[in-house]
Amino acid sequence: MRIALLSDVHANIDALRAVLADLDRRQVDVRVCLGDSVGYGPEPRECLDLLLESCATVLAGNHDLAASGRLGYARFSSIARDAVEFARQRLTPALRSRLGELPDEENLGDLLLVHASPTRPRDYAYVRDTAAALEQFDSHPFRIAFYGHTHMPVVFRDDGEQVTLSLQPSVKLLPAGRYLCNVGSIGQPRDQDPRACYAIHDSTAQTIAFHRVEYDVDAASSRIRDAGLPEQLATRLLVGV
Ligand code: ZN
Repeated sequence: MRIALLSDVHANIDALRAVLADLDRRQVDVRVCLGDSVGYGPEPRECLDLLLESCATVLAGNHDLAASGRLGYARFSSIARDAVEFARQRLTPALRSRLGELPDEENLGDLLLVHASPTRPRDYAYVRDTAAALEQFDSHPFRIAFYGHTHMPVVFRDDGEQVTLSLQPSVKLLPAGRYLCNVGSIGQPRDQDPRACYAIHDSTAQTIAFHRVEYDVDAASSRIRDAGLPEQLATRLLVGV
């Protein structure tokens, strides 16, 4: 089975449409979204509608729950708070309550899907390095887990003795290893590559491949500015930070 893993679209409809068009050209059996469909960007309603229609599973991210009113956002940066307020105004009451009902995690066969981390999904900790990944491997029995939240694509491997990381575009999964994979961000990459990022897991071939999709980043950036969202949200898209 080939599974497309999308995450952190963040109301960027230009990036999402480009990824869905890219996926139409590849053979995948199922699409899933690991959360943060809204926040930061100007098109929360359109993105959420499109994701609910095109993905078998859509998880809740912290920005989704904040926009739904189910999570406080005192810990958010001021630009993130502005964008959550914006999303709340743009979403219909029905979509806001739908956002609040999205699951924190899902099992797909032997795969675990979460937004931020397997161990404590609602803590929204950032698993960015091998030390943080080791904590996840030690406190949860998953064999293969996919997550988003940091907007940085990476594959961590636990071989039983140590945890290593790979930044390669394609990774072969070995039977003895356990894996924790961040699928990157579609709508707001932070690895200094502005192209939209998603992953495909092939459970037969036991591979994970990252795909980068070019889209009109200038247009998406202008749309953020035109919507009256903070300037920094428009400029960061251009450089992928
Ligand atoms: Zn996010």
